[in-house]
Amino acid sequence: MIKQQELERIALEIENCDICKKDKIGVAVPGEGNPDADIVFIGEAPGKKEAVEGRPFIGRSGQLLRNMIRSIGLDDEKDVYITSPVKYLPERGTPSSEEIAHGRTHLTQQFNVIQPRFIVLLGRVAAEGVLNRKVAVVKERGQVIEEIGGVKYFLTYHPAAVLRFPTKFKLGMIEDFKKIKSLL
Ligand code: URA
Repeated sequence: MIKQQELERIALEIENCDICKKDKIGVAVPGEGNPDADIVFIGEAPGKKEAVEGRPFIGRSGQLLRNMIRSIGLDDEKDVYITSPVKYLPERGTPSSEEIAHGRTHLTQQFNVIQPRFIVLLGRVAAEGVLNRKVAVVKERGQVIEEIGGVKYFLTYHPAAVLRFPTKFKLGMIEDFKKIKSLL
């Protein structure tokens, strides 16, 4: 319960954060899920639907992500926590490095509360936001790309990329989620 209250306090900070709000659209999407989750999924930034409702991954990408989570036997609302480095929908689409770097401050606070053992990075922006380095998603995906202080960081595709290029990425994403299941 204390963790939930801590996350609500961080969400309030995000809702009042002028740096986060600069050049953005809609309401804040701080993240949601189990405050005690062992596994956290990190995306990029809210899309249009998320920026109206204030909930992460509820559009088309979200349906795919939530189906994949359920396919490995986890409940997408009760077992995991879902958020992103950038907490508002950027006006220009893809978030800038400055926006990602600022988002890291809020994300780190959230990790400090949840203390997950396993963090799934969905694509390039997630990896940059969490690990503060560039990754080559196609080359490095499908594995734990870092382990820091007992926390494993696993890289896979962002579901929006899979929806855009299903023949290229869909099978890989399914493989990656099977690996996630075996590692948990
Ligand atoms: N893409 C993301 O990275 N996050 C969302 O919440 C929705 C789409």
